[in-house]
Amino acid sequence: MLVVGVTGGIGSGKTAATDRFQALGVTVVDADLASRVIVELGRPALQAIADHFGPGVIDADGALNRRALREIVFANPDERKWLERLTHPLIAQEILQQIQASQSPYTILASPLLLESGQSRMTQRVLVIDVPEELQIARTTTRDNTNADGVKAIIAAQMKRADRLAKADDVIVNDKSLAELHAAVDALHLHYLQMAQQQ
Ligand code: ATP
Repeated sequence: MLVVGVTGGIGSGKTAATDRFQALGVTVVDADLASRVIVELGRPALQAIADHFGPGVIDADGALNRRALREIVFANPDERKWLERLTHPLIAQEILQQIQASQSPYTILASPLLLESGQSRMTQRVLVIDVPEELQIARTTTRDNTNADGVKAIIAAQMKRADRLAKADDVIVNDKSLAELHAAVDALHLHYLQMAQQQ
């Protein structure tokens, strides 16, 4: 099974691109969704997190309080490492299961942390959605109704644009209209179908 990883910085257009792949009939496995599934109510990882961090990270209904957890690990790198050691293998397992269940000629793995988390090991190709920083900021502030400073802080914490591009097999520069993004996805889709057939 050919698996193409799609990544990019905040507001680069990953979702816009993967929505288009999905519309073309390609299964899109979403790493963000997988990371939520593994800490759902009743999952062992949720219990392990509650045992480690205490009741402050659990809501009244028993679900994970993601914001509370994020605040703890943001301020404490050791706790972040503990959490990643627990969750990363489970997320990878969940992603692999979904990839194996995919029926489309090839599969997309969409992940903001594809290159940082080692998830790219599950892919044969990496597609980076690239945009200039000004557009990242403009599109994200419009989408989320937030201010530029918050977006800039996230960009600063993410992998540098040049480092991401250096790891790409394919790049879509998403600095024009959505119609042009769709056309670029359509062209790559044909390419990936061919690659999948040759495998
Ligand atoms: P995040 O990492 O924050 O989840 P993302 O990479 O998935 O972001 P999108 O949500 O797809 O990015 O795009 C960010 C915003 O920019 C969205 O509102 C989207 O509709 C818009 N957008 C994406 N591509 C274009 C484009 N080519 N022209 C205009 N708007 C666009």
